Amino acid sequence: MRSHHDAIIVGAGFGGMGAAIQLRRLGYDDLVILERESDLGGTWHVNRYPGLAVDIPSSTYSYSFEPNPYWSRLYAPGAELKKYAVHVADTYDLKRHMRFDTVVTGARWDEEARLWHVSLESGETLSAVWLVTATGFLSQPKMPDIDGIDTFAGKVIHTTAWDDSYDLAGKRAAIIGTGATAVQLIPEVAKEVAELTVYQRTPIWVTPKSDVAIPKAVQKAFAALPFTQKAVRLGGTSVLEVLMVAGVLKYREFRPFSKVAEKIALRHLARQVRDPETRRKLTPDYTFGCKRPTFSNTYYPTFNKPHVHLETGSIAAVDKTGIRTVDGHRTEIDVLILATGFNLWDANFPAIEIIGRDGKNLGKWWRETRFQAYEGITMPGFPNLLSLNSPYSYSGLSYFTTVESQMKHMDRLLGAMQERGATVFEVTQEANDRFLARMTAKLSDSVFTLGSCASANSYYFNQHGEATLLRPTSTIAAHREAVRFPLEDYAYA
Ligand code: NAP
Repeated sequence: MRSHHDAIIVGAGFGGMGAAIQLRRLGYDDLVILERESDLGGTWHVNRYPGLAVDIPSSTYSYSFEPNPYWSRLYAPGAELKKYAVHVADTYDLKRHMRFDTVVTGARWDEEARLWHVSLESGETLSAVWLVTATGFLSQPKMPDIDGIDTFAGKVIHTTAWDDSYDLAGKRAAIIGTGATAVQLIPEVAKEVAELTVYQRTPIWVTPKSDVAIPKAVQKAFAALPFTQKAVRLGGTSVLEVLMVAGVLKYREFRPFSKVAEKIALRHLARQVRDPETRRKLTPDYTFGCKRPTFSNTYYPTFNKPHVHLETGSIAAVDKTGIRTVDGHRTEIDVLILATGFNLWDANFPAIEIIGRDGKNLGKWWRETRFQAYEGITMPGFPNLLSLNSPYSYSGLSYFTTVESQMKHMDRLLGAMQERGATVFEVTQEANDRFLARMTAKLSDSVFTLGSCASANSYYFNQHGEATLLRPTSTIAAHREAVRFPLEDYAYA
């Protein structure tokens, strides 16, 4: 195994695979994709909990250049996404670049040699001209810091480490968390267990889900006439674009749109939950869109079941056999399920230590100044680094719109380098500052600034209280800029 490469990609999910496909298109074949897990697929390899399904229409939640006509449902189950990831890796011959069970600990720019040194947990060091970090947004599981949790003698399962061998039948279970993951999981767990207590800190907005099975005949038509599926994809993408722009980014102009969404969710709740007190507890008190809403037809009715309890008192402690809330209510449990989500702003951004030019530490710089990245992908002081999961990089609702616009950015940037015979790029400070100022200004129209978000506990906000995760432009604008950004925004050497 050689230790120097054209590019090192960290992460074998859809981001890393997209970057690899793009690099190969540009003629670079000497790539290595490092993955800490034992297989490819990122989120869709790690998450296997019952009820897992994509919450973006599948025809849209896939690469536009690699459509899959065979999705079984409008919102495909998680296992189909994993299968699709394997299909993409096979089709684009990416597996030969991948090294699994390989934990990257850090990367350091070598100014003299003009390359990145990448350190692995094993003690090995690799080097490459380009470093692409594709470590995901929701990839560092959040373990709740609850008093006594380590003393619990029963089974503890985080949703990112589902234990298929554990039989829930007849158990007394607790689920902590009511985010999008819990909304999918709770109805499934409720079917199995004897008692289920759901610990909710912040209720989530839930709208009805219009999911349908895709008949075999339609799948065949998609395969035989790809333009039909393209049309469906365009429809799905357009709806998502409207939701994002009107519901989140242009809240100033489209405030009534959010109100309608809230009304739909409240009516859904009123129809599905019988007990007024439970309904009250499940009603969010923050503006729709401040945190990721979700949809489900089975979540709310689960709380009508006599063996399912909704607990909204803050958790005081976990002991050997149960959970106690601050108001003294104790519940005996056999299994504790943590649907507590992900740590974005402390453990991620970046997921590994990255030291750029003159010893500049990316994580420190982001925390000590502001979270920022030119076009959501490059940073001044970090030559030849493409950081796919950066502030302002997430564009639209489907992750694939983000990945594909970043592939376009790579195409333009690395193409410009080839034309110039350059081996080093670095975004200029001026271009970075201009982009940051523009994104900051745009955020002032969004629900994050104008909505009532204080009680939402939303992971869209970083520790400085800024909503720097989503790119506050339309995806059309993101894609346009990816193919047209001024080449002089970069210095080439
Ligand atoms: P999440 O949205 O961050 O939700 C975590 C939940 O755990 C929240 O209800 C949170 O309460 C609660 N929590 C965390 N720490 C806690 C503590 N110490 N005590 C009590 N409660 C605690 O995470 P998620 O549900 O895993 O979803 C993350 C994202 O993944 C979603 O927004 C979505 O983008 C994505 N997702 C997608 C799909 C899909 O495509 N099918 C499915 C699932 C998830 P607070 O809200 O009060 O912090």
